[in-house]
Amino acid sequence: MVATTPVPIAPLPLQRFESVLGPEAYRCVREEAERVRDVCAGRILWNINSTARGGGVAEMLQSLLAYGRGCGVDVRWEVMVGDESFFAVTKRLHNHLHGSPGDGLPLDHAAREIYEAMTRRTAEGLADRISPGDIVLLHDPQTAGMIPVLRELGGFLIWRCHVGIDTPNRITQQAWRFLRGYVAQADAYVFSRRQYVWESLDPDRTVLIAPSIDVFSAKNEALTEVQTHAILAAAGLQEDDLDAGAAVFTRIDGSPARVERRAEVEEDRRLRPDHQLVVQVSRWDRLKDPAGVIDGFVQHVVPHCDAHLLYAGPAVSAVADDPEGRAVLAEARTRRAALTAAARERVHLVALPMADLEENAAIVNALQRRADVVVQKSLAEGFGLTVAEAMWKRRAVVASRIGGIQDQIDDGRSGLLVGPGDLRAYGQAVVALLGDPARATEMGRRAARRVAERFLGTRSLTQYFRLFGRLLDGRPAAEPS
Ligand code: UDP
Repeated sequence: MVATTPVPIAPLPLQRFESVLGPEAYRCVREEAERVRDVCAGRILWNINSTARGGGVAEMLQSLLAYGRGCGVDVRWEVMVGDESFFAVTKRLHNHLHGSPGDGLPLDHAAREIYEAMTRRTAEGLADRISPGDIVLLHDPQTAGMIPVLRELGGFLIWRCHVGIDTPNRITQQAWRFLRGYVAQADAYVFSRRQYVWESLDPDRTVLIAPSIDVFSAKNEALTEVQTHAILAAAGLQEDDLDAGAAVFTRIDGSPARVERRAEVEEDRRLRPDHQLVVQVSRWDRLKDPAGVIDGFVQHVVPHCDAHLLYAGPAVSAVADDPEGRAVLAEARTRRAALTAAARERVHLVALPMADLEENAAIVNALQRRADVVVQKSLAEGFGLTVAEAMWKRRAVVASRIGGIQDQIDDGRSGLLVGPGDLRAYGQAVVALLGDPARATEMGRRAARRVAERFLGTRSLTQYFRLFGRLLDGRPAAEPS
């Protein structure tokens, strides 16, 4: 039985970072890359996660693994082939790790049986391909159960946890209890920030690596204003401007492409190029708070200006490991439908085409660039790549004061932070920035600088390379302090 599906990875050259980093910083990255290529010679670097599309983990793997290949490391990516009952349990784990009960069902013996059957099967399916000297990077709760089986093979096992919560609660601890026995057997565990490290894990094996964005991907590459408007028109998100050029973008391999597929749009009135626009881009997940984004906008922004809200997420059939997506999109549609006609015409709900991930990325890129204010009003957020993406595009961002968002936004300088449940504060922050374009521009400028300094892919790559070096040398995984 097939337990994983390989995802192709085309190598990307590190050299393109020279223009962003400057010669000196680029030289340091280059040296690390040469070291890792030497120590990894003859080894495979396996990455295993649960989806190749949709969400931040897939987004990051797409580019980090490609640059890893570009450095000469034999990187592979395998995606688990789960089923509905397994993904129901792992979504429950994901929600619990964020302190939320999710579907309300317990992480009990029955859940463990479902979880272990699938993770064991996946690990056994890979067992005869993994050699003793290989490095295996397992991502997120879906894969932790593979650790005890893979342990027997003698490779170097790293578990990468992309989720976390600032203040763990009783629910979070239930997920830790469920997973700890597997995770503790890894050679290293990587968390995005200090606050996310679980209690009673070995400090010598604990490593912190913040996420990062790929500034050269279709998601983040520079677009002219003409391109931005043309892409939005082609995707059916904005009125066609007669002067609009072609809806073109550049794929990560450098080839030109065009946005052709249209989004599914729930709206009463088409957006015009001159409308002020507030955008949130997120998976259809309650922890991204679509209801709060809409309610706060209607109650505290609509009365004060003419701006529109556009909330965009992926087409719901496309994200295999997220069983709640369909229900959450339906809830958002119901909420919008219940608004007064005047409010409703200011709110656009959009499901973006996912058939071509780079086309999807180009539309997200255009939406973020088109936005006067980007919001990320999540109730829980491991990191929030969408925040870094918007900051890189010099947008003014209003986001919840939670999780990794706090590492990204220096409140009042490179964006505005608000309490996650405070609809009034969210609305007021949005109105303030819409009404003061000079301040928004200055904030956007500082935001882009902050991303360049802290959240580029080369920083993550260098940290991973150093970790591999320490493990292969038999040193503790944790960075010496
Ligand atoms: N995203 C996307 N298309 C969509 C919705 C989201 O490409 O329709 C991307 C978004 O741009 C970001 C990632 O998915 O790169 C979401 O990552 P984030 O860390 O913000 O949240 P997660 O989904 O991992 O909770």
